Amino acid sequence: MDVAARSSSVARLEREEVGVFNRRFVVRLADGAAVEAVLYRGDTLCVSSQVGCAVGCPFCASGANGLQRPLGLDELRAQVELVHELAPSLARVTVSGVGEPLHAPDVPRFVAWARERGLGVSLTTSGGPLPRLRTFLREVPHRGLTISVHAGTEPTRARLVPKGPPLHALFDVLREELPSLTRARRKKLALAYLMLAGDNDAEDELDAFAVRVSELEHTTDTEGRAFVPITVHLYAYNPVDTSSARPVTREAYEAAYARLAARGLRVRMSSRARVEANGGCGTLIAVRASR
Ligand code: SF4
Repeated sequence: MDVAARSSSVARLEREEVGVFNRRFVVRLADGAAVEAVLYRGDTLCVSSQVGCAVGCPFCASGANGLQRPLGLDELRAQVELVHELAPSLARVTVSGVGEPLHAPDVPRFVAWARERGLGVSLTTSGGPLPRLRTFLREVPHRGLTISVHAGTEPTRARLVPKGPPLHALFDVLREELPSLTRARRKKLALAYLMLAGDNDAEDELDAFAVRVSELEHTTDTEGRAFVPITVHLYAYNPVDTSSARPVTREAYEAAYARLAARGLRVRMSSRARVEANGGCGTLIAVRASR
């Protein structure tokens, strides 16, 4: 398939890398900047929300050159429309590519647009700014919001998500907001923990994370129930050239899963599509436009 022939007035698919499960696209924007989008298993498209990212997570290629600008609504839509022509079975979109969706002003309108087309939309965020997180929790019609936590203690959080909110502030907001959400809406919240060797894989780090999640699960909901499970996505890491971060061994990954599960958490491991080299968390690249 000639992806270069797929273009709109604001974007064109410049290159495609085909894996076993995933198809990864370089999306060239009209000003010369580029972002990436990944089609998982033919039916779920991960789109980018910004050219670069200001959060500065040290393991992530997407923000390695800082932030240039957020994408506009037409650029967000173009990623879906161009790939949809190649993948008619597209059913879901996740705003989990390059950029922090809470920093991109047009993302709520994009979610509404995708919903009107019958596409389910989920998002992944580092959690800030917190007033914006409250809005996304309460009002934005998503089908799932995953908050990247990656730590159980504040020093680790500050190192791994430098411009994201600290853990105490993030979990305070979640504790305040969750009781007012319906049970169905609460079930759409998930937390992510990316396993990084020597960074956040110590047992006390995992235990501290488990305590925070358990306390949150026991926040009473609107229907008076004192326990609503929260899914924890325990992600494996794919190394990138821009970072010295390293994945844990398979043995350590499984041990972390067992440790969190033994503390009563509902844990999910990375799918095979997520583990594939062209689909891993933090591997998508942004190219800045030359000014
Ligand atoms: S992991 Fe997400 S929030 Fe962190 S730098 Fe990368 S794109 Fe930004």
